[in-house]
Amino acid sequence: MSTAITPFWIERLAARGLSEGTIAHFGLTPRGEGWQYPVHPAIEAMRWKAFDSRATPKYLWLPNKPDAVRFYDCDGWLHDSVTGAGGVLWLASGEADVWALWEGGIPNATSLFDGEARKIPAWFVPRLEALDVQTLHMAPDRDPTGRQFVLNVARSLANTGIRVLMHRLPFPPRSKGDIGRLLVEMGAANLQTALNELRTYEVVFEPFRERVRQLPLPNLFSNHRELYEQWSVEVVEAAAQMTWDFSGPDRKGFSKNFRCPFHDDRHPSAGWSYRSHGVHCFACGYHGTKEIAEMLAVLPWEQFKAERAAP
Ligand SMILES: [Zn+2]
Repeated sequence: MSTAITPFWIERLAARGLSEGTIAHFGLTPRGEGWQYPVHPAIEAMRWKAFDSRATPKYLWLPNKPDAVRFYDCDGWLHDSVTGAGGVLWLASGEADVWALWEGGIPNATSLFDGEARKIPAWFVPRLEALDVQTLHMAPDRDPTGRQFVLNVARSLANTGIRVLMHRLPFPPRSKGDIGRLLVEMGAANLQTALNELRTYEVVFEPFRERVRQLPLPNLFSNHRELYEQWSVEVVEAAAQMTWDFSGPDRKGFSKNFRCPFHDDRHPSAGWSYRSHGVHCFACGYHGTKEIAEMLAVLPWEQFKAERAAP
C-alpha cells in the first residue's frame, strides 16, 4: 500500500517548504492520501497524517497507538539536541511543525501526539526533566485551544525550574497560521530570525492567577549551540576518528560500519553520525557525544565551555 516517493510527492512537500533532506530525516513515506512516518526508534507502530489538513481523520496510528509512546523523537536524539541548544526545547503544536522547525535549523523540537492536548499526561514533567530541559518554547495556534494548551503546560511546570516562553505567531486570530506557514513565508534560512523577532511572553502559573508577562525581544539562539557543535567536532569527533578509524560521511552523514566499541561486536554494526556526532549501533543503540567523550577521556563539555567562556 505504500507508494514510492516520486517527484509528485516531493513537490507536494516542497510546497510546504520541506526539502528532500528533511523528508528523508523524518522517514516520510507516501501512503494513500497522506504520509506515514516513524515516531521513535524503539516503537514499531507508525503514525500517519493526511496530506489535506481538513481531512477526517487527520492523524492515525498504524496499526494502533502503542502504550509506551511519549514525545515525538523519530531518531532518539532529542536529549542530545536539547543539550546542544543549551537546555532549550520547542514544544510544537504537531509533527508538521517539528518538520518545519528542523527545516529551519532547529532540531531541538518535539510535539505530543495529541497536538495541543487538553490534558497534560502524567509522564510529561518527568520526561522533560530527564531531557534536561530548562526552557520550553511554544508558538501555539492562534485560537482558544492553543492558548489553553500553553496555560496547561505552564500549570504542570509550576513547581519545576522549567520556564515557559510563548511566541505569538504573526497571523490573525483563528487563521490556522502555524510554524509551517511561517516557514513557507519566510524561507528556511530566515525561520530562526523570524521566530526570534516574534513578540514573546513568559507564562508563569500562580494558583488562581495565571500571569503572562511580555519579555523584551529575546535572543533565543545564543552562541552556546555553536560552541557545543565546536566541542563535538573538534574534540570528540576528532578523537573518535583517530581511535576507531572510521570512514568519512556518506550522503546521509554516516561513516561506513565499524566494530562497535560499546559491545563485544563480531561484525561491524556501528556507524558514526557526522550530524549528531555519536555512534549508532544496530545491536546496542545510540551513544551520544557526551558518553563518547567520557569513554575516550577527552576534555569534557563542561570544562570546554568554562574555558571558552572565561574572559
Ligand atoms: Zn553496539
